[in-house]
Amino acid sequence: MALVVQKYGGSSVADADGIKRVAQRIVATRKAGHSVVVVVSAMGDTTDELHDLAKQVSPLPPARELDMLLTAGERISMALLAMAIANLGLKARSFTGSQAGVITDDAHGKARIIDVTPGRIAGALADGAIPIVAGFQGVSQNGKDVTTLGRGGSDTTAVALAAALGADMCEIYTDVDGVFTADPRIVHTARRIPAISYSEMLEMAACGAKVLQLRCVEYARRYDVPIHVRSSFSSRAGTWVSEATGAGGESMEQAIISGVAHDRSEAKITVADVPDVVGLAAKIFREIAGAGINIDMIVQNVSAATTGLTDISFTLPRADGEAAMAALRAVQADVGFGNLLYDDRIGKVSVVGAGMRSHPGVSATFFGALADAGVNIEMISTSEIRISVVVDENDVDAAVTAAHKAFELDATEVEAVVYGGTGR
Ligand code: ADP
Ligand code: ASP
Ligand code: MG
Repeated sequence: MALVVQKYGGSSVADADGIKRVAQRIVATRKAGHSVVVVVSAMGDTTDELHDLAKQVSPLPPARELDMLLTAGERISMALLAMAIANLGLKARSFTGSQAGVITDDAHGKARIIDVTPGRIAGALADGAIPIVAGFQGVSQNGKDVTTLGRGGSDTTAVALAAALGADMCEIYTDVDGVFTADPRIVHTARRIPAISYSEMLEMAACGAKVLQLRCVEYARRYDVPIHVRSSFSSRAGTWVSEATGAGGESMEQAIISGVAHDRSEAKITVADVPDVVGLAAKIFREIAGAGINIDMIVQNVSAATTGLTDISFTLPRADGEAAMAALRAVQADVGFGNLLYDDRIGKVSVVGAGMRSHPGVSATFFGALADAGVNIEMISTSEIRISVVVDENDVDAAVTAAHKAFELDATEVEAVVYGGTGR
């Protein structure tokens, strides 16, 4: 008998029928003799819809109130799921993030979990009830305010609870059969990856493969929680994310490229005509950091010999674009740069694979495939196991498809099924 944490994403509980289907799955797990703790996301696109609603009443909603609003989505689905399970004859009890003991810092909208005290969850289990926990939310340690963990945060709730409860595994149920070599919504011939290491999954998630939230993977690696990503619409085996090697004892490190990821959530800022003087880059990025904004890629050109001026470009989350531009405008005179440019019509495409450490020519193959597809590269960055490029937003699909093909990742038979969700 195992203790399993099961997380059901929004597309799995999009409507009443979905909730009843998920309830049946949970009951079947219990009947197979396992203890189960459930984490649930908001129904369908509820979180986006609540966000849109907030924007209609205020262009810049106070972060505390936005969190209060967004967390309502998960409260709806947790209560409905508990009712559906009760209707099948088993005891179920729903809990908000706060009731479940998910303690966070007070960074509204992107709060970090600092402690998990799941006393009430353990109590419900001991009582023979199935705990249903609202994902994506917690309570701040200092202010005792309701917080959210960032988009896709229910994945992190699930892994954090699994770690705190000492669960045997964490199952992430979604609308595809696991982690694929590319987003099945773009590449229909993408292949399911049966097993992937934490470090490769970290890079995939960091590069936009939203099937798992980045923080969830970080958390799982730190506490060594094995994750099984699979579909709630089928009974197929999914993808195991763990430190172990792949099926059949074959080392996962052997694949040169495990997958291609893309991200349409970033924007690019160019600080143009920056005097090439010691300390100015530090000044610019101190302003950005001061506004609480994380940046991704940075490119600085060599300065033009005639003018002594250079350009610095960097990418950041689109959601932080306005705040970053405002912060930089405020120091334009002090830093002495000429101009600020903002471009949110970009996308990032990345190839990820531990095997590239020991294989030359990966960049050449990647860039060659993009050239053949007529895609222009605007920026490049690399890590030990990843190469990323920034391209025009309209070229993202073509770039992903071309890279997937160039690294021979295409399956001969289509196995990537998208069962639900709107892809929003
Ligand atoms: P949920 O509502 O279950 O949390 P998400 O929409 O957050 O689901 O994540 C699942 C989606 O992630 C899939 O529908 C798919 O479009 C997208 N996705 C992006 N990259 C990948 C990938 N490499 N493998 C599988 N799915 C991916
Ligand atoms: N409902 C939240 C979101 O849409 C959290 C989640 O689904 O994981 O981001
Ligand atoms: Mg998700």
